[in-house]
Amino acid sequence: MTNQSIHKTELIAPCGMNCRVCLGFERKKKPCFGCRANQELDSRYNCIIRNCQKRGNHDNCSECENRCARLKRLDKRYREKYGYSPIHSLDIIHALGMEAFLKNQEIFWTCESCQGLLCVHRWACPECGAPRPNVISAQELDDRI
Ligand SMILES: [Zn+2]
Repeated sequence: MTNQSIHKTELIAPCGMNCRVCLGFERKKKPCFGCRANQELDSRYNCIIRNCQKRGNHDNCSECENRCARLKRLDKRYREKYGYSPIHSLDIIHALGMEAFLKNQEIFWTCESCQGLLCVHRWACPECGAPRPNVISAQELDDRI
């Protein structure tokens, strides 16, 4: 946890996704620069959650009182497919603030075996193959939605 953390506010998407650990950001060929990148012509940035005006001045959806259906659907898809919950991230941001969340990300996405960077879209460490921890427990899964 140094000042040179790779986890940055500008890479936390409005939905709670950490773009830094997304496969799209990681790949060499035609990488994505994160959901907040200003590339209006690229269809990847036409996300309705990203462009939602209901957040007002808020930087992300963590302050939204009613989580919208789109966000819930995104969350469900990610929980089922990748064991990752953007809404869980939003809850941490809401409860502890962005700075604490970024520290949390630093720990969570560092492989315990090799200190390599883990990836949302991969169940194992890209560096050493060690299994990635699941973001939320089965109980939490049941309690949601
Ligand atoms: Zn590893």
